[in-house]
Amino acid sequence: MNQVWAWFAAAFVAAGFVGQPSCLAGEGWRAGVAKVVITPEQNMWMSGYGSRDHASEGKLHDLWAKALVFEDPAGHRAVLVTLDLVGIDRPTSVDVCQRLQTKFQLTRDQIALATSHTHTGPVVGENLSSMYFFGDDERSKVKSYTERLKDQIVDVVGQAVENIKPVELKQGLGHATFAVNRRNNREADVPQLREAGELKGPVDHELPVLTVRDADGNLDAVVFGYACHATVLSFYQWSGDWPGFAQLEIERRHPGTVAMFWAGCGADQNPLPRRTVELGEDYGRQTADGIDEVLTQEMTPVQGRLLTSCAEIDLAFDDLPTQEQLQLDAQSDNRFIASRATMLLDKWEQDGGLAASYPYPVQVWGIGKDIKFVILGGEVVVDFSIRLKQELESNRTWIAGYANDVMAYIPSKRVLTEGGYEGATAMIYYGLPTVWSSNVEEHIVSTVHELVESQKSAQSSSNN
Ligand SMILES: [Zn+2]
Repeated sequence: MNQVWAWFAAAFVAAGFVGQPSCLAGEGWRAGVAKVVITPEQNMWMSGYGSRDHASEGKLHDLWAKALVFEDPAGHRAVLVTLDLVGIDRPTSVDVCQRLQTKFQLTRDQIALATSHTHTGPVVGENLSSMYFFGDDERSKVKSYTERLKDQIVDVVGQAVENIKPVELKQGLGHATFAVNRRNNREADVPQLREAGELKGPVDHELPVLTVRDADGNLDAVVFGYACHATVLSFYQWSGDWPGFAQLEIERRHPGTVAMFWAGCGADQNPLPRRTVELGEDYGRQTADGIDEVLTQEMTPVQGRLLTSCAEIDLAFDDLPTQEQLQLDAQSDNRFIASRATMLLDKWEQDGGLAASYPYPVQVWGIGKDIKFVILGGEVVVDFSIRLKQELESNRTWIAGYANDVMAYIPSKRVLTEGGYEGATAMIYYGLPTVWSSNVEEHIVSTVHELVESQKSAQSSSNN
């Protein structure tokens, strides 16, 4: 057993780190949940679209930060925070996680910050830094919103910790079909293609569901994920887009429940057709229907241990631009290219060059013996979900994107080779110097495998 443990520890020194299960053996699983409104208190710049030319104009419904803290029978804890936001940047994530680690005695692998990618949420930190053109007044609003958001996340996790009590966790799998592969179907053709059953994939229509019930059977929380952009709406009112409507609908149907959404690998998936509030509500209802179908069936109790691990890898870019190229780009008629170049030239000046890679977060939670929850940064395309579900051989594989740091699109080898928005040009809006290297998919997938393998040995060492 010691050897296995040593190998496991050594693997983590190499790959990242893992939370050590504590020895406080309890009766069963415990959990606490809490939520807080994070709608900006004043109108400010909205995130997700470069075409917006003014600040928000009120709200359709509120945006939320929600926290679920759960703990296995051995006392090992994980904190899942879901946010109705287009994304968060690395400095915000690093700061929040450090504060959570200190305040609640956690290691980094025990914390996941998941965003819904709603395109009617506020700009946060430096996220999508080359996409917006606004003055100092708006910039200071973004800064103060981001500071308040960080405090609110720490507070809501604190409330969830206070609410911890014995629970039963169960899991199941539903389906919803409104996500459409936006690279392979023309938006205008979608209603006809859908009618004819001729929509082209790849897609991932799985709707994984985790429920948290207290000792009296009350439904405290419903956690769910789905691989689809939150881009039904593009107007000037705050909203959670279809995931916001889905969470509201689940909470309406199950009073007292906190519904929590994490976005899957939906970077190349859109909810189609779109652009009306009615369609957003409809996709919310379809999601709630899919979840209710799971709730009415026999769900599988979560049994076993909670294992949490993460790694930060140096995800390589393709060949970097020269200073001369950036100087040319800074004169470009395309304001996004010019803005990125100016920013990168400043960085060059400051750091003496550009980094050849980006510190990319990969996280894996083994939730009981059945669930592998892979939590990735960035806007991850659906190929990752399909591949990892095939390769990981767990009873349930959940793959989240848009978590911990939304720094760019994350294309598969296929999408990178095909190019287009998700494979190439989206990098401009994220302020990154060029496209990812051809190794992007393999590097991420092999890291996921390393983390999963190390957990296998931890699981077997606990069984010895
Ligand atoms: Zn997106």
